[in-house]
Amino acid sequence: MRNCLVLATKNKDKVTEIKAVFAELPVEILSLADFENLPDAVEDGKTFEENARIKAKFFAEKLNLACLADDSGLEVDALNGLPGIFSARFSGYHADDATNNQKLLSELEKVGAEESKANYKCALSFIDTDGSEIQTSGIVHGVIKKIPRGSGGFGYDPYFYIDDKKTMAELSPAEKNSISHRGAAVRKMLPLLKERFL
Ligand code: IMP
Repeated sequence: MRNCLVLATKNKDKVTEIKAVFAELPVEILSLADFENLPDAVEDGKTFEENARIKAKFFAEKLNLACLADDSGLEVDALNGLPGIFSARFSGYHADDATNNQKLLSELEKVGAEESKANYKCALSFIDTDGSEIQTSGIVHGVIKKIPRGSGGFGYDPYFYIDDKKTMAELSPAEKNSISHRGAAVRKMLPLLKERFL
């Protein structure tokens, strides 16, 4: 099926954010949740870009369908860029958003930082059925503070302040997409995919 694009993730929040921008693409957008018994890709790259490529290539080959993978994470200045590519598993193998955020706060405590400049980065890799690749990326700058605000978004969003008072978790999905690392990367990808699929 040519007119089909698989988002190579099981993260429902990422799927929602990416689908919102790709709504105008003339393709059926699926995600890994639409397939059964798929193995996990081994994300052993050293950068977001490498890991995005690994995931997109792995699932494009497994499914024989065009795949788009996102690899993203939080880089905190006071923690020398951590959690970075370890963002999803910062607190260990069974990590979830709550334990990752606890770990973030305890690491800031250890280095004696009340708050810290930080950024979210997103790398997108699209791998077509012929093996060709398109990569785009996006970044958003902010400050990590220890008081959480808001219940939107996911991951580290309640601690990621986009200005003095507001966190990423206080934005509507459309507002988050308009400024976020993922929104930026997806918007750069959109015209390139239109060329492929139109
Ligand atoms: P990945 O699924 O391996 O790319 O890991 C992404 C991880 O980075 C997520 O589990 C979150 O912890 C973090 N992350 C990425 N994007 C966001 C975001 O938009 N908000 C909050 N956390 C994010």
